[in-house]
Amino acid sequence: MHEFSICRALVDAIVAEMKRVEAPRPFRLVEARVVVGSMRRIVPDILQTAYKIMTKDTPAAGSSLRIIKAPTIVKCGKCGWTGEIEDVFFRCRNCGDTAVELTGGMELYLDNLKIESDEQS
Ligand SMILES: [Zn+2]
Repeated sequence: MHEFSICRALVDAIVAEMKRVEAPRPFRLVEARVVVGSMRRIVPDILQTAYKIMTKDTPAAGSSLRIIKAPTIVKCGKCGWTGEIEDVFFRCRNCGDTAVELTGGMELYLDNLKIESDEQS
């Protein structure tokens, strides 16, 4: 499924990033925040399920996934208008032209990792 391949890329990025973290003590991942553009057309629930399955047996196991959805932004080639649009109406909201260039909505990246030290105190 579509969400599973996206999730695979995200989990790989998260695990790679965890290896780069220089913490004084062992830590665990509490939450991973990711930005996913609305043009990616993901179903958050399926992505959450995929995340639980794929992080199992990785250093990210037990962490939660926070999905930030980035809006679809276009720039009109005719009047220069830039703004957010509904995915289904792929046209300029100012002049109605369809010669719009996508400038936002394809995002897919790891935004932030929230970690917690293993030991208390
Ligand atoms: Zn326009």
